[in-house]
Amino acid sequence: MYCIKCGSKTKNVKIAEDNYRRNVCLKCKYIHYVNPKIIVGTLPILGNKLLLCKRSISPGHGKWTFPSGYMEMGESLEDGARRESNEEANLELDILKLYGNYSIPDIGQVLFVYLGLIISKNFKAGSETSEVKLFNIKEIPWVDIAFPSVKFFLEKYAKDYENNKNFKYHSNFAGNNLK
Ligand code: ZN
Repeated sequence: MYCIKCGSKTKNVKIAEDNYRRNVCLKCKYIHYVNPKIIVGTLPILGNKLLLCKRSISPGHGKWTFPSGYMEMGESLEDGARRESNEEANLELDILKLYGNYSIPDIGQVLFVYLGLIISKNFKAGSETSEVKLFNIKEIPWVDIAFPSVKFFLEKYAKDYENNKNFKYHSNFAGNNLK
């Protein structure tokens, strides 16, 4: 690759006191650190229903997801979750609690998902969304869920909902043996 600072060629090397290989500029010596990106999302709740969005873009075109997207600079996790929900479904949410995280090490993504209470009924499809719809737990379209991470949180939600609405914290790399 080429240096983002000066455009010269880089070399992938192991740096002393660092366990990872990094691309280092051969000219200006700039070290290109690459770290995972944070994605924020919400499970928007209205009464006993959950709002899902049908995606109008790839990947997952035509499939259902909850509102989510990349966190921006200057935001808290909650700010990002609220903004993405507003952009994708015109939602106004009261962020209730952090519901879980989901790590995808292979592609360097970490997802943080919040439970959000819908406080305005003006929700509608926004950018990246062709349709928004409220679902009962029994109506969740399991065969048309966009991503494994979405399925993970919807399955946890359905299980917690049926367990007296005991919405515990979940992680795809921890606590999976808890009864
Ligand atoms: Zn350089």
